[in-house]
Amino acid sequence: MKKPANSAKYACPHCGSVEYITAPNSYDVYLATAGGLQLQERAPINEKFQLHCRECSERAPAAFENVAG
Ligand SMILES: [Zn+2]
Repeated sequence: MKKPANSAKYACPHCGSVEYITAPNSYDVYLATAGGLQLQERAPINEKFQLHCRECSERAPAAFENVAG
């Protein structure tokens, strides 16, 4: 469902959404053991912090990523 365009300074330039999500930057590896599943390691995918619009998935401009608190 498309939200109405928002005029906030850091709204998405593509669709106007004001919600961003981070790109996944790691995944967890689990090992099956006698007692269950045990976390073995957290493997990095992407070292760089990236923001994507939650609505349209476009990458946020670098300037937006720099002001993310
Ligand atoms: Zn967007």
